[in-house]
Amino acid sequence: MSTSLFDQVIFGPVHSRRLGLSLGVNLLPVDNKLCNFNCIYCECGWGAKGVRPRFNPRDEVRRLLGAKLREMVAEGTPPDVITFAGNGEPTMHPEFPAIIDDTIALRDEICPSARVSVLSNATMIGRKEVREALLKVDNNILKLDSAFDETVRLIDGPNGDYSVARTVERMKLFDGHLIVQTMFLRGWFEGRRVDNTTEREVEAWLRLIAGIAPRQVMIYTIDRDTPAEELEKVPVDELRAIAARVEALGVPCSVAG
Ligand code: SF4
Repeated sequence: MSTSLFDQVIFGPVHSRRLGLSLGVNLLPVDNKLCNFNCIYCECGWGAKGVRPRFNPRDEVRRLLGAKLREMVAEGTPPDVITFAGNGEPTMHPEFPAIIDDTIALRDEICPSARVSVLSNATMIGRKEVREALLKVDNNILKLDSAFDETVRLIDGPNGDYSVARTVERMKLFDGHLIVQTMFLRGWFEGRRVDNTTEREVEAWLRLIAGIAPRQVMIYTIDRDTPAEELEKVPVDELRAIAARVEALGVPCSVAG
């Protein structure tokens, strides 16, 4: 299957299933994925080994974002949302907190109706400055694909010693000011069964959601090509059934099937 990289610092706008008209900000290299996860469903493809960390400079991001926002407003089509996503994990950028401050200042000045969203795998939220930056944006959307370390290792391929328990404790520090995002999928990867929709998986995940008490949960399934080839979409009815169980906890849950 073919996957693709974002070849620009500012990309789009694209119409996002979850976010509306979304202008993307890519803080990572334009020719390589740079992420401390290697998800089997990543739309950027597999991460290459031995990639030197290289981030788009703060000044360049500010200049390009400001120019694009001005252009969109002049054309009468301001974005609904400015979304940090792109070729990897945005919070790995050493100047992420300062870039968030720049972005909020540009948004307030040029298109105050736009929201700022960050899609993150939550691996850097142990750092106070990253948490503080995420708390400034409108939507901090943090990934939690399973309640089990073993499943996360299979689906998300984390570098280093990722721990679900530690991630959940850190998510609780947001005091509800976060959105949890979960990809549900099934299939095979390297001869192993992948399925985070079993009752054991969903029940344990719901327990964690109840403890984190986020202001919202977003669940979704595969939409585009994935680097692993034997993965299947989860039918939207099944996603809706999971969402109903989240809502029974008192947490709003959106579904993108
Ligand atoms: S966390 Fe996001 S960017 Fe990183 S590998 Fe997973 S899907 Fe790709």
